[in-house]
Amino acid sequence: MTAPFSEETAAVIRRDLLNWYHQYGRDLPWRHTRDPYAIWVSEIMLQQTTVAVVKTRWQSFLERFPTLESLAHAPLEDVMAEWSGLGYYSRARHLKKAAEIITETGEKPATREEWRKLPGIGPYTSAAISSIAHGEPVAAVDGNTLRAVSRLLAEKEALKRGTGTARVLSAAETLLERTAPGDHNQAMMDLGALLCTPRNPACNRCPLKPHCLGSASGQPEDFPQLPPKTKSRTVHLAAAICLHEGAIFLVDDTEFVSKHWSVPVVRLESHARPDLALAAFWQTNHGKEATVLGATGSLSHAVLDRRYQIQLLLLDAKPEDTINGSWFPLARVSQLERGGFLNKVLRHISEPGSRPPAFPEAAEPGTHPSEAGPCRQRPRRRRTGG
Ligand code: SF4
Repeated sequence: MTAPFSEETAAVIRRDLLNWYHQYGRDLPWRHTRDPYAIWVSEIMLQQTTVAVVKTRWQSFLERFPTLESLAHAPLEDVMAEWSGLGYYSRARHLKKAAEIITETGEKPATREEWRKLPGIGPYTSAAISSIAHGEPVAAVDGNTLRAVSRLLAEKEALKRGTGTARVLSAAETLLERTAPGDHNQAMMDLGALLCTPRNPACNRCPLKPHCLGSASGQPEDFPQLPPKTKSRTVHLAAAICLHEGAIFLVDDTEFVSKHWSVPVVRLESHARPDLALAAFWQTNHGKEATVLGATGSLSHAVLDRRYQIQLLLLDAKPEDTINGSWFPLARVSQLERGGFLNKVLRHISEPGSRPPAFPEAAEPGTHPSEAGPCRQRPRRRRTGG
């Protein structure tokens, strides 16, 4: 592969980028430490969470678990509680698992390859930690850097995992300022976040403009070319809200985010009545008898290309009558691994008037429960042996 820049050009780019970073780079709390553990925590939080949110949570996580050892020895439940609200809870689980591995083996990672072997750490994160915390001269290419380098090269194919990607990754390594890899990597990230944005990049304020083929083309937004948008589809669900003495019934999430908790949901065929579909689903999956008390509202939710329309139905179920799930006190749900859907459900049921005031008799035959208000639907047969 031919070098994308002459050594002279690369040297000018490195110099101008670092000068810009020292003047305009973001002042983020985790940039004031070289502690690998603290930097690692910041990089894991930043994987799926915005910088603005991480700024409010990183410090408190470190106050709760100030060292790698304290994280390794903490109960998982405490770690999950501290992670609460950040979402993508597998990150917290992996973080703790990796801390346990390091503590048990006594081998503290110090290179990209060593970090890469730990759970939850991929190519970008391992390079970011090793360059920032240990000064290892490796390029950390996140989405921001990938976009900026694609535009520098006017490379359209960077998102197709072929030669275009290889060309951009190679250019990122070529441009790396090997005497200050941590600062360089963070400078590239800031350039992509602050100037080389997906829409309307601020080329006129960019220190790399004199060398940027994308900007010279007049259409920098064309690089890299985005994959065609997949058409979204609508999925209709009925969700079971079971509350009993301040506790809620939750199951493994099979619809939105795996390994998370959710209220039970069932997909609805077109024109299916949510109460009937849910009652049948309940008999098959969660056992014994439950009474559909009525509709309590509806929610919209989106995951990737799926747009969910969800009818929420209150069920009268008791702990001794349920299988394939667990009851949790509502006050404890914030400590569980849960996605945005369950958060919406919890907000909904905490609103005044979200629960039917009484348990009325059956709704008018054929009436949709979301229109009819509270109704009663009994499964036709009792499940045994559950
Ligand atoms: S000149 Fe424009 S397109 Fe090129 S790197 Fe800078 S902001 Fe991005």
